[in-house]
Amino acid sequence: MSTLEQSRLLATEIPGPRSVELAGRKTAAVSRAVGTTMPVYAQRAGGGIVEDVDGNRLIDLGAGIAVTTVGNAAPRVVDAVSAQVTEFTHTCFMVTPYDGYVSVCEHLNRLTPGSFEKRSALFNSGSEAVENAIKIARSYTRKPAVVAFDHAYHGRTNLTMALTAKSMPYKSGFGPFAPEIYRAPLSYPYRDGLVDKELATDGEVAAERAITVIDKQIGAGNLAAVIIEPIQGEGGFIVPAPGFLPTLRAWCADNDVVFIADEVQTGFARTGAMFACEHEGIEPDLIVTAKGIAGGLPLSAVTGRAEIMDAPHVSGLGGTYGGNPIACAAALATIETIEVDGLVTRAQEIEALMMERLHRLQAEDDRIGDVRGRGAMIAVELVKSGTAEPDPELTKALTSAAHQAGVIVLTCGTFGNVLRFLPPLSISDKLLIEGLDVLALILADL
Ligand SMILES: *Cc1c(COP(=O)(O)O)cnc(C)c1O
Repeated sequence: MSTLEQSRLLATEIPGPRSVELAGRKTAAVSRAVGTTMPVYAQRAGGGIVEDVDGNRLIDLGAGIAVTTVGNAAPRVVDAVSAQVTEFTHTCFMVTPYDGYVSVCEHLNRLTPGSFEKRSALFNSGSEAVENAIKIARSYTRKPAVVAFDHAYHGRTNLTMALTAKSMPYKSGFGPFAPEIYRAPLSYPYRDGLVDKELATDGEVAAERAITVIDKQIGAGNLAAVIIEPIQGEGGFIVPAPGFLPTLRAWCADNDVVFIADEVQTGFARTGAMFACEHEGIEPDLIVTAKGIAGGLPLSAVTGRAEIMDAPHVSGLGGTYGGNPIACAAALATIETIEVDGLVTRAQEIEALMMERLHRLQAEDDRIGDVRGRGAMIAVELVKSGTAEPDPELTKALTSAAHQAGVIVLTCGTFGNVLRFLPPLSISDKLLIEGLDVLALILADL
């Protein structure tokens, strides 16, 4: 990676001939249901660049969906993985356990919000960790129901599909879904503000709206857990109005309901804090992590209050690969990189740079309805000129032109009209600015 030049380069058209050939093989070998954002095949990646098989160098504003927060093939991660892989690759923690797993749990207990005694358990994917958080909450409370929010994304397994809000592409045709899952209204300041200013600015009011639904339609006596992303990821990088999360959190505490923060996308320095809950000073009972935790290796975790985490019976939680030793070594190196290299501060710098640039763009262009987010998790909501009507076509045109120009940018949102930026924290200011300039030029042309 150290030799990968940190500049954008278009060596061929995008996709180039080798990518086109691979795309042909993909069509013949891979289920079409596994879609791709770009038809470009990766060869190497690091810093703020993904190099493809044709030698094109693309500016990475996606970090593999918020995973390679410390950078791709980050040096400490590469060293730790290389060392571990020669020692042992797997024993199964449930058979003969090992230090790396315990160390990752110690760090998670130390780093997550909350000064109370904690325990952790490790899994493979974000969805798997979310499922386990629900199992733990039900075991602790002996209650069945779970509340998730409008626009929520919690994964693609059966239970997490039920928690996820959006039908296409995540749920359509894949039911029946798990029972006892209910949905409450979120605080969505931009869209709430179109109908009610107070709802948009006062998170307590928005929380009361949600609590009324929860209280009247489900009842705290039946409710095991409330699960929420402190800043929604897939749903559109929606930052709730200040006070929304603390009010919900307090209601859960008063009603024997486990408050679960899904920080799969927001965790590990992404939002300019180690965890996004810190921005609102809240301490979840359980916190779910994955994505940025291990520099690209598959690992996830549930961390929380010791008495809740210890509620399930012995051997009630686990899995063959959960907390794989190579993934644990990568996580320890990732945490060291975040702490030693000051990446929380770096995410704040990226926020300042991007917000300044994007707000300037918004002032000139009324198709930018909203600019929001925190740290290196920033989004632009695109609307039809002079309205608040979502414009998914413009969003699609903009991203596909950006891809042609060598900038990897992702979309999200219930209405498919949100551009989301998730650069690796290893990206240079120069590449970040160039990426944004490319997008601004394309937008001006459309
Ligand atoms: C990505 C994501 C998940 C699911 O994680 P997988 O590793 O894809 O299973 C769950 N919750 C949130 C908030 C996510 O962003």
